[in-house]
Amino acid sequence: MGVKVVKFGGSSLADAGQIKKAAAIIKSDADRRFVVPSAPGKRFSEDIKVTDMLYACYEKASLGEDFTPDFENIKRRYYEIIEGLGLTLSLEEQFAQIKANLAHAGREYAASRGEYLNGIVIAAYLDFTFIDAADVIVFSDEGVMLRHETVAKLRERLKDVEHAVIPGFYGRSLSGVVRTFSRGGSDVTGSLVARALHAQVYENWTDVSGVLVADPRVVDDPVVIPVITYKELRELSYMGFSVLHEDAIFPVRTAGIPINIRNTNSPEDAGTLIVADDDATEDPSLRTITGIAGKKGFAAVNMEKAMMNSEVGFVRDVLNVFADMGILVEHMPSGIDTLSIIADAAALEGREEQLLAALRKAVNPDHVEIEPDIALLAVVGRGMRRTRGTAARIFASLAHARINVKMIDQGSSELNVIVGVNEHDLHQAIRCIYDAFIASTL
Ligand code: ASP
Repeated sequence: MGVKVVKFGGSSLADAGQIKKAAAIIKSDADRRFVVPSAPGKRFSEDIKVTDMLYACYEKASLGEDFTPDFENIKRRYYEIIEGLGLTLSLEEQFAQIKANLAHAGREYAASRGEYLNGIVIAAYLDFTFIDAADVIVFSDEGVMLRHETVAKLRERLKDVEHAVIPGFYGRSLSGVVRTFSRGGSDVTGSLVARALHAQVYENWTDVSGVLVADPRVVDDPVVIPVITYKELRELSYMGFSVLHEDAIFPVRTAGIPINIRNTNSPEDAGTLIVADDDATEDPSLRTITGIAGKKGFAAVNMEKAMMNSEVGFVRDVLNVFADMGILVEHMPSGIDTLSIIADAAALEGREEQLLAALRKAVNPDHVEIEPDIALLAVVGRGMRRTRGTAARIFASLAHARINVKMIDQGSSELNVIVGVNEHDLHQAIRCIYDAFIASTL
């Protein structure tokens, strides 16, 4: 019997009804012994997350303004939950302490109380041990989480504990100050707990039934990805997929622990399993393409020079210009006498002339220009390695939709085909690749 660490996001714990669903999920599997909750999130689209209410309270408190009405609203949310769960639990002591500390204990302390209080309530409801994350998640005084220290503390504290609730998002620095991760950081806490316990799986419960093949704002009702590798997820996240907090991957990935994204509102769905490459080899659900992502906001710096290919050091000199100006190079497609550098358009803004002058000086090109409004599209899939003709199908579908391809880049891993298109073609391009590879197989 292995241990499962289960993290529930804010929308999964937004009110008593949601917490009951989460509790039923936890109780339905005896392996689900360690729970990492977020603070209560939105109950409806215009609602405010408790974390945001706390930030707002802190702003007022730090300016010496009256924050009592805001604080009362937060209290009300917890008492509604407590009542809805049928608990007789008083948080008066905790609220009094938080109120007294609010102005001087710092913004991160204030924000962390959302998870802290929710952890106490959920532990009481489940009858699990409450473990304050401040005692087990260790930060440096600069606010960087210290992984080795954290994992050691977690192991020590949890070694004889049968069931526990460990609130997400925060910890304590070496000198005793409460610190938080960046937004969405409860994912990181869950990952650290899973790592410390050598969990069999890290379940991340949210309000969608897994990672979708494409952005649902672009493609109607896209299908869920059943299994994705960490590498594929990284490629897609880089291009804008937001699945988990970035720092949540490393602790479990290096320990070979899979992450399962699940839906609290639809627990019968299998969700998406995120696994290491080797664990994905025998996957019967494998499609040629795992996911399609796109991102706007790039520019191409196009250079042309006769006999460029025989000029030793040409590329190095070009890259030095970008490095000297601190501009990150995203992609570098090239031809015999042409070279393009794709970069973040925002990094070039206001510096176009300076960049062009530096390039002229460094490599004396016959022609150099900056082409704005470029979007990049990533077609990602470990299945591409075994399927011939994938690139042909991608480009045929784009050609069919009359989309002009500006750049093509395929990494040596054959995991990812990156296509540059004009920004206004991006959504259409995603849709036609989805139709060609996914919709047509359903
Ligand atoms: N409650 C925090 C936030 O809203 C952390 C989390 O939910 O993961 O960002």
